[in-house]
Amino acid sequence: VYKFLRKQSNRQSTIAEIVDATEVDEELILKFIRLKRLQISQFPNINYPCERCGKAIRKNKLCSQCEQDIHSQISQMNQEEERKREIESRKKDTYYAINPKND
Ligand SMILES: [Zn+2]
Repeated sequence: VYKFLRKQSNRQSTIAEIVDATEVDEELILKFIRLKRLQISQFPNINYPCERCGKAIRKNKLCSQCEQDIHSQISQMNQEEERKREIESRKKDTYYAINPKND
């Protein structure tokens, strides 16, 4: 694969073309990319699937859509946590507010 890609004329290849030319498993090429042993910035037509939805991407593990989805899910979760904490602290406030009257 390295030898193949070292040729200037092969730098425009897609993964499918590399698989054809080198008879190397696509999985292995994807692994090279994941391990950063293939710097795809040098190869404009190489992309790999998003780990969540399979859309072709060229950087990170997820496409921008999935990243956004996950971020909004996380912030939603944080909001939920925040709300729970607020309810808890309000309960405590109530407790302390009632207690002095009992003294
Ligand atoms: Zn995705």
